[in-house]
Amino acid sequence: MYIANQLISIKSKLPKTVTLVAVSKTKPNADIQAAYNAGQRIFGENKVQELVKKEEELPKDIQWHMIGHLQRNKVKFIAPFVALIHAIDNLKLLQEIDKRAGQNNRKIDCLLQVHIAKEDTKFGFEIHEIKEVLLTTSSFKNISIIGLMGMATFTNDNNQIKEEFESLKTVFDSIKNDKLTTLSMGMSGDYKLAIEQDSTMVRVGSAIFGHRNK
Ligand SMILES: *Cc1c(COP(=O)(O)O)cnc(C)c1O
Repeated sequence: MYIANQLISIKSKLPKTVTLVAVSKTKPNADIQAAYNAGQRIFGENKVQELVKKEEELPKDIQWHMIGHLQRNKVKFIAPFVALIHAIDNLKLLQEIDKRAGQNNRKIDCLLQVHIAKEDTKFGFEIHEIKEVLLTTSSFKNISIIGLMGMATFTNDNNQIKEEFESLKTVFDSIKNDKLTTLSMGMSGDYKLAIEQDSTMVRVGSAIFGHRNK
């Protein structure tokens, strides 16, 4: 019951406008099934191999989100089914997704990852690059860029997290339109701060499923 209770408790804290992605990486199918049985249909994974395996084994009406760094040579494995790719950080990756989506007669939704953290270990485009990237990508036929994604620095300093989310919200506000509607920011430790900055999609793992080993 732990997972169902956590899920329901978190959902009750989210505004109706915010989509919850349940991040199930490293967790067994039984845990995902427990969240599924409690009504959850959107799950996020960050490793292609694990995502593909879970997609095969679990109910077909799950919408699978790829939330992690994605290598070009692995796009082909998820192109047949992936519902949303969160962490686009270069144009060659988009080119590959466009090609593989076309081969599968699909149009794949994507988010551009924006580098907002002060740590330089996090991937993403710089804020000043976003408008140009959007112009460049408007020619891709088989992908839809539907918004932006970002990760704050891993820190206890709430002011810093807030500032980083604010910077992402500001870029998002400057580009959002009928097609660019999704702002993916917020994880277990900072989703409340993210919602205050108008996040529309939170990616919550450990607060639902419990801590991950390593
Ligand atoms: C693991 C992960 C999450 C969820 O992290 P939690 O702290 O467990 O909620 C969110 N987003 C990305 C990109 C992740 O890799």
